[in-house]
Amino acid sequence: GAVSQLSNSGIFRTQGFIAGKWLDSYDGTTFEVRNPATGDVIAKVPSMGRKETSDAISSAYTTLSSWSKLTANERSKCLRRWYDLIITHKEDLALLITLEQGKPLTEAQGEVSYGASFIEFFAEEAKRVYGDIIPPPIADRRLFVLKQPIGVVAAITPWNFPLAMIARKVGPALACGCTVVVKPSEFTPLTALAAAELALQAGIPPGALNMVMGKASDIGDTLLESTQVRKLTFTGSTAVGKKLMAGSASTVKKVSLELGGNAPCIVFDDANLDVAVKGCLAAKFRNSGQTCVCANRILVQEGIYEKFANAFAKAVQNLQVGNGLAEGITQGPLINEAAVQKVESFVKDATSKGANVILGGRRHSLGMTFYEPTVLSNVKSDMLISREEIFGPVAPLMPFKSEEEVIQMANDTNAGLAAYIFTNSISRSWRVSEALEYGLVGVNEGIISTEVAPFGGCKQSGLGREGSKYGMDDYLELKYVCMGNL
Ligand code: ADP
Repeated sequence: GAVSQLSNSGIFRTQGFIAGKWLDSYDGTTFEVRNPATGDVIAKVPSMGRKETSDAISSAYTTLSSWSKLTANERSKCLRRWYDLIITHKEDLALLITLEQGKPLTEAQGEVSYGASFIEFFAEEAKRVYGDIIPPPIADRRLFVLKQPIGVVAAITPWNFPLAMIARKVGPALACGCTVVVKPSEFTPLTALAAAELALQAGIPPGALNMVMGKASDIGDTLLESTQVRKLTFTGSTAVGKKLMAGSASTVKKVSLELGGNAPCIVFDDANLDVAVKGCLAAKFRNSGQTCVCANRILVQEGIYEKFANAFAKAVQNLQVGNGLAEGITQGPLINEAAVQKVESFVKDATSKGANVILGGRRHSLGMTFYEPTVLSNVKSDMLISREEIFGPVAPLMPFKSEEEVIQMANDTNAGLAAYIFTNSISRSWRVSEALEYGLVGVNEGIISTEVAPFGGCKQSGLGREGSKYGMDDYLELKYVCMGNL
């Protein structure tokens, strides 16, 4: 089956990765990685903790001086080879992502291309870390700004994009001359380890990239307490992000956070109905609703509400739920039982407060953690489902009257990651895009993330930006040098 195919692929690694070596946990303990579609154990991996993490930090710290002193061109070539190897192993990596994360194979293939694109982009960007020369305010001085790598980076990543979330952080970090300790999610360590294997094959030096997995809070605390770790980059829940930000205070680390969203998808009366349905469907149901930029509230203007609700429900009905390895599947399982229970509790809360189920609304007959693609109408702003991040395949429809009202509704949240608007009016596109307190806005598009554009949130959705030329800034320190008495 799939697991034996992977065993022969040369990328199936089941040990931690420190200083270029594959290691078990020092106390021999392990944890199981399971396929969410079947419950089958795919592998056992080491359950690492403080000691292994300390060694990974030391390894990264020791390697910092040699890696950062390579020319940008040499680092660029390593990253480019890593990119090439990821693309060469695209099918095996996609299979691994589907096995441990559950998303449909076509989406997993898309993730490999998307993740790899960050490595390619930052391989190129490595060569463009320009400083400045500043006209001096005093005649016999010369003023320079140097950009230097910040140092050892700790990267803590989630399970929803097991490859791409690592690539978005490790790509720019290595490009800038930093070294990295990654702690991948306990649900998806195998994709991360496969990426590490390919990094090793690409000639990225031992110690420049390390991976530890296991006891999240022990690993996290060790990374936070270390004075050698100068930067923390995290993608995951807002609650854990806040804890890590607080924990970074004692050593004053630079922090980048990509946290939860509560994306509004706004459909105006003047929208093209087909474009709006397609865009909302993609923004809501990609990865079964398990992305931080997934539409969380679909706000529809009164004049188009009935038409949109009917067309949208029809489109949702066509989604195919099942094991992501099977042909034609568009919706995989949710990551775990807790995720399903959260979705169930939100739907229950909404219906008890007057929302109507147009479609779905229950666990899927396939069992496990499969949930029926669901559309709710008449959702109100006091319902949990419109206030909290759903992270599942439930689309709540909420009516609105005016542009003014919907801007207020859209911004009435502590989150501020992605927002989407559907309208054929150019002036409204500008007005509303500028008024939305969000880091990304899609106009007549439901999928907008790309390696060439900055990704990140406002308010409690996070700090910093990933991707694009701005994605380098988070890993660089500015140094002002003044030459005097010339
Ligand atoms: P989600 O599972 O919803 O993506 P989490 O924030 O729970 O969000 O997980 C994201 C990452 O944070 C995972 O790698 C997880 O292991 C890690 N994590 C969770 N709790 C802690 C913690 N106390 N310290 C460090 N990392 C943590």
